[in-house]
Amino acid sequence: MGKNRAQTSAERDANTGAFDAKHPPAPELIDQCVHCGFCLPVCPTYALWNEEMDSPRGRIYLMKMAAEGKAAMEPQWVQHFDACLGCMACMTACPSGVDYGKLIEATRAQIERNYDRGGLEKFYRQMIFALFTDPAMLRRLRAPLWLYQKSGLKTLVRTSGMLKLLPKGLRAMESLMPALPKPEPLPEVTPAQEPKRLRVGLLLGCVQREFFPQVNAATARVLAAEGCEVVSPADQPCCGALMVHAGEEDRAVALARHLINVFERAQVDAIVTNAAGCGSNVKEYGHLLRDDPQYAQRAKAFSAKCKDISEVLYALPSRAERKPLKLNVAFHDSCHLQHAQRVAMQPRSLLREIPDLRVTEIAEPAICCGSAGIYNLVQPNAANALGDRKARLIAPLNADVVVTGNPGCILQLRSSLQRLGSNIPVLHTIQLIDASISGQPLASN
Ligand code: SF4
Ligand code: SF4
Repeated sequence: MGKNRAQTSAERDANTGAFDAKHPPAPELIDQCVHCGFCLPVCPTYALWNEEMDSPRGRIYLMKMAAEGKAAMEPQWVQHFDACLGCMACMTACPSGVDYGKLIEATRAQIERNYDRGGLEKFYRQMIFALFTDPAMLRRLRAPLWLYQKSGLKTLVRTSGMLKLLPKGLRAMESLMPALPKPEPLPEVTPAQEPKRLRVGLLLGCVQREFFPQVNAATARVLAAEGCEVVSPADQPCCGALMVHAGEEDRAVALARHLINVFERAQVDAIVTNAAGCGSNVKEYGHLLRDDPQYAQRAKAFSAKCKDISEVLYALPSRAERKPLKLNVAFHDSCHLQHAQRVAMQPRSLLREIPDLRVTEIAEPAICCGSAGIYNLVQPNAANALGDRKARLIAPLNADVVVTGNPGCILQLRSSLQRLGSNIPVLHTIQLIDASISGQPLASN
């Protein structure tokens, strides 16, 4: 059972209630909330449970209570924040401009410093961070995973009921595991098709690099075809997105410094992201490193260069010919693209440039599919309920393919659609653009 860790007297003197003195949720941001409730209909946890304390307005109230010393960091209080997906749909909906993103990030960092989650939960979370933020570790997993998938063991485990014996978290991990594609390592520099228009850096991601190398390869091919020289530094670390979103601030800061060093050396005009969760994180490095005199300015300059692949391509009038793809495409907005980065029009517009392709909208576009960083691993029940809700909206659209801009959403949607008995392929937007430019058949994963 979790509990408050003892705070030092210096921390208590700071008069920040249940929070310590290191960046508590800012009172001026809390006070911007006028309790209007416009954010409630788009909040996925409120949609699931209809509980005020599991809505953005309720969570902001809980922050205020804790800041004023009227609520303690006890298990029930923490659970309301653990249940938040960090999807930022509330920010898009809020007419008062409340920066809920900064509030939840600060609250989560406080929870991780001051709340004792207990041995088992702590171990499970640390295992997730060790695994999913280290490409080398993910690479070492490929061989045993390949064996598991190809030897028939996976089928045996799934059909025999053995899965039910695993703890919920491991069951969730198993159900999200993608079919392993062949590695497609990128060269350090992919030359542009002349005349060259830009020199860009490519953020490879961790899960993206190891489990979706075909997405990175497609990104580099499309950029090159559109006149961009693509620098893909092999020594780039994890960007720290999962850690920031889960409150592991110190480790995220160390990774951010390392990533800035790597891309400063690359001397690029823009840094391209193709995983929405990573993209929204690197665009906030200026905030993350605001206390660091050596990095604060450099982090701002770095963030200003970061762009989602759809923003980069949309800003470059297309040069490479698009060949027809006769497809009905259901477009899923990743929360970290539409809400956190406010990028929604660009990927649709790029898809509509492809002759014969039809873009179909999915109902409830503002509501998260339940992926949300490590959410589907630490809150599998709520994540499955949201995934099932999204799959039930997609299935009747008779789409040939579902398209989105984030690897986490791809895994979550594939697993949710399969639970519903649907095998519609779920792909990244850039894979369709790549297929249209190259004329090659569209991959099924
Ligand atoms: S971030 Fe998402 S889940 Fe969390 S309060 Fe806002 S809308 Fe609800
Ligand atoms: S919409 Fe904004 S101001 Fe209104 S309750 Fe939600 S967070 Fe508060």
